[in-house]
Amino acid sequence: MLRPELKNGNKLKIYTYPDPVLRKKAEPVKVIDERIRRLAQDMLYTMYEAPGIGLAANQVGEASRIIVFDLRPKENGRHPCALINPEIIDAEGEVTTEEACLSVIDYCADVKRKARVRVKGLDLEGKEVSLDAEGLLAVCLQHEIDHLDGILFIDHLSALKRALYKKRLKKKLKKSS
Ligand SMILES: [Zn+2]
Repeated sequence: MLRPELKNGNKLKIYTYPDPVLRKKAEPVKVIDERIRRLAQDMLYTMYEAPGIGLAANQVGEASRIIVFDLRPKENGRHPCALINPEIIDAEGEVTTEEACLSVIDYCADVKRKARVRVKGLDLEGKEVSLDAEGLLAVCLQHEIDHLDGILFIDHLSALKRALYKKRLKKKLKKSS
């Protein structure tokens, strides 16, 4: 079951750039137990509350390889998905999409990624699943799996663009302190 039943969860803190936890490489989940299922539920809840379309465990301070996502517009009904130890096993084509991230505040930019990916992983029951994704789902999966390796979408930008964002963020943080 890739799609867990949606339960009420706890709203977790979402860490934002430049918090070092976002740079940690997440460890594979060895045992999918109640704690992991609970965490995935809480991540889904946190993602919907944000709101966002995807969330990786590092973003809530857990260095475990877990991602959750749901690309369906809210009015079409929730479609919660969770994937443990996700891995891109095949990728092709190229697509540029404007991306944003719950951990990178007030910023979006065009990022070039693979247009189609095949991803495998485990569902919350520990069953092996694989999915072929294209369009926004393919982009979302690459973005979230990047998080698990400590990579943010701004790392895909030119050094100049990244420097501009850092400068803007510094100003903003100064203003709010
Ligand atoms: Zn993100």
